[in-house]
Amino acid sequence: MAEDRRLSDFSDNKIIDIDIGCIIDDYLEEEGRPKTVGAYYPSEIGMCIRRSYYSYVLPKPTEAGALRIFALGNNLHAFIADVLKKSDEFSFVEDERPIKIPYKDEKSSFTIYGRIDDYVITKNTNKKIIIEAKSVGDVLKINEPEPKHVMQLMLYLSAMEADYGMLLYADKKNLNIRQFRVDYDDSVYAKIITRFRDLDLHLRNKKLPPAEYYFDAKKVWECKYCPYFKECMQAIANND
Ligand code: SF4
Repeated sequence: MAEDRRLSDFSDNKIIDIDIGCIIDDYLEEEGRPKTVGAYYPSEIGMCIRRSYYSYVLPKPTEAGALRIFALGNNLHAFIADVLKKSDEFSFVEDERPIKIPYKDEKSSFTIYGRIDDYVITKNTNKKIIIEAKSVGDVLKINEPEPKHVMQLMLYLSAMEADYGMLLYADKKNLNIRQFRVDYDDSVYAKIITRFRDLDLHLRNKKLPPAEYYFDAKKVWECKYCPYFKECMQAIANND
């Protein structure tokens, strides 16, 4: 239970005895769970490699605002899964299917753990499709799939037999949808595994990876929202 929260005092000066916002935050509150080196997750491979590294060596609890956004996204995904299950378009629908991708070479060894949002088989064409759903603030701004989402879906396509994947963007405001087909590509998959291997080697050798996003003009804006901004800037100042 968070200690520092107060009951809300509203502008009409009438005190209300409960603060539902605080109750939601308490419900969603999570402990900073330590992650295990060698166990990696598809959602993190598209992010800055230094940020991923920090999340293993310096775990921090997710801040309340982000947890609320995740909760909204989860609700939207549950709704979409429900709609798919009730639709006559499919002969088979499964959601939240866990996948495991092991990797091993002479220097590196790890397992990627993921969960497929939705796996469907169309009734008329018998197509097997892996669906990765993303909730977004404004779907009209999504003109092409984000590379980090393609990477995530590519891992699922490597782990399970399917004709193709679909990235489904759903607008949180009005449920407008944009969808993109993603086909399995060996070369993209190899690049993803190389990135995970790189992360794994940095973690095993306790070596800070490069500040990837800070030195990328297109991605540096994300540093502002990085929970490790302070540590990263200090490391850059120390030439790490
Ligand atoms: S501040 Fe930027 S470069 Fe540094 S870890 Fe975070 S995202 Fe990466």
